[in-house]
Amino acid sequence: MKIGIIGAGLSGLTCGWYLKKNSINDITIFEFSDKAGGKLKTDRIDGFQLDRGFQVLLPAYPETKKVLDYDKLQLQRFQKGSLIYKNGKQIPFYDPGNGLTALFETVVNGPGSVIDKLILLKLKWALSRLSIEDIFNGKKTISSLAYLRELGFSERIIKDFWIPFYQGVFLENSLETDSRMLQFTFKMFAEKGAALPKEGMDAIPKQLVDYIGTDKIRYNTKVLNYDSKSVTTSDGKQESFDKVVVACNMNKNLEYHSVTNNYYEAEKLPIDTKHVILNANPNRIINNAVMISNVAPNYSQNGKHLISVSANGIHTDVDIFLSDLKSMFGLETANWKLVKSYIIREALPAVNFEKKYEPTSIEGVFYCGDYLLQGSINGAMESGRRTAEEIISVSKKTHSFSRA
Ligand SMILES: Cc1cc2nc3c(=O)[nH]c(=O)nc-3n(C[C@H](O)[C@H](O)[C@H](O)COP(=O)(O)OP(=O)(O)OC[C@H]3O[C@@H](n4cnc5c(N)ncnc54)[C@H](O)[C@@H]3O)c2cc1C
Repeated sequence: MKIGIIGAGLSGLTCGWYLKKNSINDITIFEFSDKAGGKLKTDRIDGFQLDRGFQVLLPAYPETKKVLDYDKLQLQRFQKGSLIYKNGKQIPFYDPGNGLTALFETVVNGPGSVIDKLILLKLKWALSRLSIEDIFNGKKTISSLAYLRELGFSERIIKDFWIPFYQGVFLENSLETDSRMLQFTFKMFAEKGAALPKEGMDAIPKQLVDYIGTDKIRYNTKVLNYDSKSVTTSDGKQESFDKVVVACNMNKNLEYHSVTNNYYEAEKLPIDTKHVILNANPNRIINNAVMISNVAPNYSQNGKHLISVSANGIHTDVDIFLSDLKSMFGLETANWKLVKSYIIREALPAVNFEKKYEPTSIEGVFYCGDYLLQGSINGAMESGRRTAEEIISVSKKTHSFSRA
């Protein structure tokens, strides 16, 4: 069986990975750019590893666990919990698993009241008992912000922790994302925290490409048209296939959340931490900062420190970050040097969770991608897996029918 896949992002690569695992080897993946990975790419500049837009792997993701070899990725772990900066002060919000001091500091000096911390523990416990299917099949269709209020959290902890934290996860500022996405990601963070592969986030797609075979990917090839049996590329060539998979979003009307991610180099770190640092200042622009070479030392191989700073939306004026950084970390940020600024207009799709994803073909064409399920590594890979399974199941049925 000959399969054509359009797009070598995580969804297309995962689809190819499962097809190969099931002995379907005649695969061609058409990729518009010169690299595989789609939204997961890493640039190597002046001894730094720069992911194109700060992002993390949540090792508890069920789909990555099925496919990726975590030992080979040499995962570099963040410390669980967060460190919050507000009005020049640090507010610790550490995971109780970090030890008694962390627990004590969080209870005494952390954001919100003791009641807030009890509600948080209850939420963690309740989510640990729910399966991911339970979460996504749940009937609630309220926003994440409405959900947090419904759980009874105080406005203080919502402002100081939940909003800054989830602004950085959803890449939107009002937490209007469906509450099921908050439940899912919070469960994942609580189970195994967050991590970066030692060699950069693009080590994830590289692992998939190594298995599929780089000769299966046609780089620098844009697909202009397709139907259930053929693909036409921008050089005017048409190729025939038994099945065609569209693993990219060709629907230009879809809404996306955008983010600006600046990387800075510094001689000295303002704080020695492996936590994500949240900015809870009112009127902030920056959502979070990460001492990235502290978490994953390989991200800097030139003796300097690498710091990632993210703000939702599009910010072409890089100076605008500096005043926020100064109010968070003090004067020494004036000596930080901008390494690179990434503006990612189409970062996370605004997914409609009411519309259930079905991997079945539409007019004979199969579709996968994060925009159909969830804007996450897990969502992209799940859609790729389910599409491959659907193709295998359809072809088995056709095969047994033609033999009967
Ligand atoms: C800044 C940022 C931060 C993120 N943070 C996280 C995070 O912390 N954790 C998490 O789990 N997820 C995160 N994500 C989401 C995650 O990276 C994506 O959901 C996932 O990588 C999307 O994979 P995909 O295959 O669906 O789409 P894409 O990655 O968009 O892949 C589509 C591919 O198709 C190609 N293509 C498009 N059109 C054509 C054409 N006409 N012909 C040929 N090829 C074509 C594209 O070049 C691309 O390679 C983040 C994303 C961004 C951008």
